[in-house]
Amino acid sequence: MRFSAWNILKQGLTGNAGWKPHWRSPEPKPAYDVIIIGGGGHGLSTAYYLAKEHGITNIAILEKGYIGGGNVGRNTTIVRANYQLPGNSEFYSHSLKLWEGMEQDLNFNAMMSQRGVIMLCHSDGQRDAFARRGNAIVNQGDDAELLDTDGVRKMLPYLDFEQTRFPIYGGLLHRRGGSARHDAVAWGYARGADMRGVDIIQNCEVTGIDIENGAVRGVQTTKGPIRARKIGMTVAGRTSQVAAMAGMRLPIESHVLQAFVTEGLKPIIDTVISYGMGHFYISQSDKGGLVFGGDLDFYASYAARGNLPMVEHVAEAAMTLMPVIGKARMLRSWGGIMDMTPDGSPIIDKTHVDGLYLNGGWCYGGFKAVPGSGNVFAHLMATDTYHDAATKFRLDRFKTGRGLMDEEGTGSQHNLH
Ligand SMILES: Cc1cc2nc3c(=O)[nH]c(=O)nc-3n(C[C@H](O)[C@H](O)[C@H](O)COP(=O)(O)OP(=O)(O)OC[C@H]3O[C@@H](n4cnc5c(N)ncnc54)[C@H](O)[C@@H]3O)c2cc1C
Repeated sequence: MRFSAWNILKQGLTGNAGWKPHWRSPEPKPAYDVIIIGGGGHGLSTAYYLAKEHGITNIAILEKGYIGGGNVGRNTTIVRANYQLPGNSEFYSHSLKLWEGMEQDLNFNAMMSQRGVIMLCHSDGQRDAFARRGNAIVNQGDDAELLDTDGVRKMLPYLDFEQTRFPIYGGLLHRRGGSARHDAVAWGYARGADMRGVDIIQNCEVTGIDIENGAVRGVQTTKGPIRARKIGMTVAGRTSQVAAMAGMRLPIESHVLQAFVTEGLKPIIDTVISYGMGHFYISQSDKGGLVFGGDLDFYASYAARGNLPMVEHVAEAAMTLMPVIGKARMLRSWGGIMDMTPDGSPIIDKTHVDGLYLNGGWCYGGFKAVPGSGNVFAHLMATDTYHDAATKFRLDRFKTGRGLMDEEGTGSQHNLH
């Protein structure tokens, strides 16, 4: 069923009784051509592009919970293509271009809003680093503008420009960045994949991966065994656990990242702001809540909720940057499990097992990657060759030390990226 002005009018006049569920709830078949483990953003978009661009439709997505219950529905929804290093730069550029046509492509409103992303700088050194980054972004073909203090003041007059501890020296503005409604992205890809024949099987946990003579043969699940010759792992925070089912020990640590939302307020923040000190970023949702986050909780955990010290840290950063929001009441917070790699960049690669493919290590930046990741991972799974936009996300970089992409220059410590 397509969304169109005519359909909305017709449904509105007939009690909205004619809408169909966005996807079916089939029981698993005994065998598929492809199994995708994990029905988050990356798994859903992979299945969608496998069906749409490669004509592979006999696919099952096996999701242990429900669609939108993982990180894809838990993030702070920032979308951007302002990376600096080769490898990341062309990939996120590719992903942002897909975002720009995604809603039309899926015929689904994901509330994609290119309201801009600005990263603030607070020292000469940071401003120089942003100038370098801006040049790299522009060379890649994306947009970046370096603003001075007055430029930022004009755009964001409610920030505290009088603070002496972390004075605002300027900012790097990326106008094509912005935000989207996170679970709508999952629903849109789920609907698009289902419409092309993909089986989305919820409440179906993969408990084992069957391997014979070095090749995958299928999976064991809570709904019984299912056979397939090609299997993709897209399980985000659970990547090391699922890969361990195939005998792999990955260079990934799982950490908690929290998000916070205030009560609904009148519109004040019409862009996405990232504070260069104290790791704090904020935007305002279309319902009016201020949506913000900070750093990881700093210890490895599989709990999808965080602890109070980080709440305090984030609230302090918020008050330093924009005391104007001090009276807003924080209504909700939650956590998601981040699959952190030692260089902070992801992995999209084949594995030592024939027919088993790995997509993970998204750290806390995988929402903006959803279209791009699904697109290039589908290419890899369908053709066994790397997509031009994702040639550098190789697993063996952690073994050889060659080709590491440490965007932040913080060294090989998972929790610092
Ligand atoms: C608080 C927070 C803020 C964030 N902010 C941003 C942001 O602003 N911008 C950005 O780009 N990124 C952000 N991220 C990161 C982003 O959300 C993730 O990198 C991305 O969503 C991960 O990919 P996914 O959507 O496929 O993950 P998920 O939605 O977690 O999908 C993985 C799925 O695998 C399933 N699964 C796990 N194990 C099994 C199994 N054994 N069998 C079957 N299924 C299984 C899980 O149930 C889950 O649904 C943020 C994350 C958090 C938590």
